[in-house]
Amino acid sequence: MQLIFLGPPGAGKGTQAKIFLERAGIVQISTGDILRAAVAKGTELGLQAKGFMDKGELVPDSIVIGIIEQRIQEDDCKKGFILDGFPRTIEQAKALDEILTKQSIQLEHVINFNVPDEELVKRLLGRATAEGRSDDNPESIKNRLQVFKDKTQPLIRYYEEKKILRHIDGVGSTTEIADRVKIVVGV
Ligand code: AMP
Repeated sequence: MQLIFLGPPGAGKGTQAKIFLERAGIVQISTGDILRAAVAKGTELGLQAKGFMDKGELVPDSIVIGIIEQRIQEDDCKKGFILDGFPRTIEQAKALDEILTKQSIQLEHVINFNVPDEELVKRLLGRATAEGRSDDNPESIKNRLQVFKDKTQPLIRYYEEKKILRHIDGVGSTTEIADRVKIVVGV
């Protein structure tokens, strides 16, 4: 089972991915988590990515596409995976199509989490206090929401045309939203 969790920053993709993967026995691939780990370790990748991340900009396509291409080939992905935070641009979506075609893998669903802007800002500011993420400051948050609208929103249409997009209301309790995912995916 191969899924994409799509939605703006703060939509709950990561939280829902964690709940879902326990149920379905598949893995979560979060480019944000991979990049944050690289920044924390101070690797070459981390050094390249940090500046973009702190400002709320996207890390260049070539970098994240490379990360995904490698990660998807690892053994633990064989049973299935949830992509959380990737793709974020049409360029990335097209590269993903190629990577998956090469491996004869077909995407089953793209789940789009809908959450209004005011709610997203509230959640992201809350997360800044709870998790201390350096990109959850007001300036970066504003930029990330704008970047989502400019670069990532077009993916909704892209996957709608492939007839694999499913919309989910992302407002409610974590359990309520997890139940909505269950109904749509069937697991
Ligand atoms: P996230 O945790 O998914 O919100 O990602 C945090 C930050 O990592 C983003 O604001 C971007 O700077 C970077 N990032 C994560 N995934 C991607 C991606 N697919 N393309 C470009 N940049 C990304």
